[in-house]
Amino acid sequence: MSLLEETKLILQRYGIKPRKRLGQHFLISEPVIKREVEHAELSRDETVLEIGAGLGNLTKYLLSKGCEVIAIERDPLLARVLRERFPRAKLRVICGDATRVELPRFDKVVANLPFAISSPITFRLLKQRFKKAVLIYQKEFAQRLIAKPGTRAYSRVSVACYYFAEAKLLERIPRGAFYPPPEVDAALVELTPRRERMHVDEDFFMRFLAALFPYKRKTLRRALAFAAKRLFGEEVEPAIVAKEELLERRVFQLSPEELAQVSEALRRWSTEGLK
Ligand code: SAM
Repeated sequence: MSLLEETKLILQRYGIKPRKRLGQHFLISEPVIKREVEHAELSRDETVLEIGAGLGNLTKYLLSKGCEVIAIERDPLLARVLRERFPRAKLRVICGDATRVELPRFDKVVANLPFAISSPITFRLLKQRFKKAVLIYQKEFAQRLIAKPGTRAYSRVSVACYYFAEAKLLERIPRGAFYPPPEVDAALVELTPRRERMHVDEDFFMRFLAALFPYKRKTLRRALAFAAKRLFGEEVEPAIVAKEELLERRVFQLSPEELAQVSEALRRWSTEGLK
């Protein structure tokens, strides 16, 4: 029986209608699932976290590697399917919202993410300690995650992701690999957490990026004026926080390291009274 037939059978047996709001597009391509799991290079002594395990199409292959799988699934009916489909497996099912439930300790995370929570769940994960993530995202979001300075897709998410991890695009996945097919294509991305992060105050850097990137097409000089207003309710003298050469460049042309440098200077200006 093909995975598509098996999926339809499970849906029918439990009377499940895939819920768009929860991003319920189930993987039905065995080659894609196998490659995703192979990229994770799992060993038997590892614990793998799966976010949004759905009916268990990916879970089944994760379990076949002999590792312990912890699956978080928001939909109680699907959580029940998971428990009943793999009753004697090394599987723990947590029924809840992955952006809120307490996350267990894990070595790797492998998932076909619900697109609506791609950003919050990615940054929640990146704040944990783990070895590797292999994740399926909506194509546009994946492009933003891996984007380099000076490109169209380079955004706040690219810089924030760079701060935590090295991101690599593994392959594009056509919408036909899912049932029901989503409206957009997807992509498989590998995230490897950095051993050494840039030396920058993390909290402030994230707030700084959020305040600056709405103006990413403006010069840093102009964008800083808006960002400082957003952050502190007052303007900053640009020359205090960045050199002329940087101030003349557009925000989307600045590397993560340059942005971190500006963020630190701005933070020091705001906290150490360099006004
Ligand atoms: N892993 C399965 C597969 O590949 O066939 C299903 C993937 S489907 C794209 C996303 C799954 O995430 C759905 O089963 C959905 O119910 C679940 N989900 C949606 N929002 C969630 C959340 N906030 N926390 C946990 N699971 C969620």
